[in-house]
Amino acid sequence: MTHKQVLIIGAGFAGLNAAKRLRDLDDISITIIDRENHHLFQPLLYQVAMAALSPADIAVPIRSLFASAQNIRVVKAEATSVDLAARKVVTDAGDFPYDYLLLACGARHAYFGHEEWEAYAPGLKTLPQATEIRRRVLEAFEAAEKETDFERRRRHLTFVVVGGGPTGVELAGAIGEMSRFTLAQDFRHIDPRQTRVILVEAGPRILPSFDEKLAARAMRDLESLGVQTWTGGAVTDITSDGVTIGTEHIAACTVLWAAGVRASEIGRTLPGVTLDRSGRVEVDDHLNIPQHAEVFVAGDMSRSVDANGKQLPGVALVAMQQGIYFAETLRADLRGKARKPFRYHDLGQMATIGRSRAITEFGRLRLTGLFAWWFWLIVHIYRLSGFRNRLSVLIQWAWSYWTFGRGARLIVGKEWRAYGAEGKV
Ligand SMILES: Cc1cc2nc3c(=O)[nH]c(=O)nc-3n(C[C@H](O)[C@H](O)[C@H](O)COP(=O)(O)OP(=O)(O)OC[C@H]3O[C@@H](n4cnc5c(N)ncnc54)[C@H](O)[C@@H]3O)c2cc1C
Repeated sequence: MTHKQVLIIGAGFAGLNAAKRLRDLDDISITIIDRENHHLFQPLLYQVAMAALSPADIAVPIRSLFASAQNIRVVKAEATSVDLAARKVVTDAGDFPYDYLLLACGARHAYFGHEEWEAYAPGLKTLPQATEIRRRVLEAFEAAEKETDFERRRRHLTFVVVGGGPTGVELAGAIGEMSRFTLAQDFRHIDPRQTRVILVEAGPRILPSFDEKLAARAMRDLESLGVQTWTGGAVTDITSDGVTIGTEHIAACTVLWAAGVRASEIGRTLPGVTLDRSGRVEVDDHLNIPQHAEVFVAGDMSRSVDANGKQLPGVALVAMQQGIYFAETLRADLRGKARKPFRYHDLGQMATIGRSRAITEFGRLRLTGLFAWWFWLIVHIYRLSGFRNRLSVLIQWAWSYWTFGRGARLIVGKEWRAYGAEGKV
């Protein structure tokens, strides 16, 4: 019997969990294709952006995860399209045939048709974006320290975060905390009370997917860190001067984007599929696209529903469970067993606000404050890939907790020039 060729595009939460569950099958050949060489733990990206962790703490080389799996090959390449008829995926490193295909390329930010805003308001999806945000935030404090004009200093010390979902809340809370507790000790001229952090949400309240009382608690926690929450007003313009919301203008040097996502472009290359407004591929309850039981789409780039027809959220747990489902379905096929439909087990949601507050929701159980934060901490350590990363993050969090320090407060990422080009040796 010839080996089945299994192709996994994207080593995010969905792709990685699929491959891990198939590593013991020596009668299939698996190829994982990713345009990056690392798997990224996105839920802790904001900690890199806020200088609490370093990039290597939350990313792990994909090759190292599968070094001992003889049936798995890792290729660093960008997939550009899928040829369903020929059963192959086209990449910038050539074509890859498949018998089974898992498409799990995730999503990126969307600016609601205003892509020009991206230059002024970076989103947070990748490590380069996280280090760029870190650079902008730290540069703003450096500029404020040197500035003598009150208005200009105020502009440097005004941070606007657009989008009141968990990422926006976590970013805004972290800036509030960093300015009040960490940077205030290091700078000589900045009064931390001058730092303004404004969280803008177009909807009627922040954290719309959470219980109303928990969201209200999160808002109070944010206020205690100096974060103002502006709800009910959509951003109408973003420039280098700041943000406009209707007739209101906020003069700010640093604007961060945490609103709106668009699924991976590769979904658009699939003929005969339906895409939703965010470009997600609609899949059936086996995660297949129409007429193709060998093609599965999972995670942030797919649109699937639960048993009640409610759309599943774009979160890591959905992606992980869908990746595992792909592996189990493939095993069932190989054994000649019937496929079962995908069922999502909702294990709840959580968001953290600063260093010792969080909100968590598990069915009817609601936790807030320090207890919820400990819970958040344990869950994230447990889910991180790689023992080294777990240990490193744990040590750094313990250090930050006792000292209020942020060890990764480095401004890097300026354009590199050879010494010769600058006239230096
Ligand atoms: C800042 C932030 C915070 C978050 N916080 C939470 C949280 O607290 N809890 C939670 O549950 N979820 C959270 N999420 C959401 C969660 O991270 C996503 O739902 C999850 O990563 C989706 O997994 P995925 O496998 O679909 O895609 P991803 O994890 O995004 O992985 C996609 C992979 O595909 C690769 N790829 C993309 N395009 C191509 C291509 N054309 N060719 C080859 N490779 C490609 C990428 O490099 C990447 O490795 C957060 C997301 C962000 C951005």
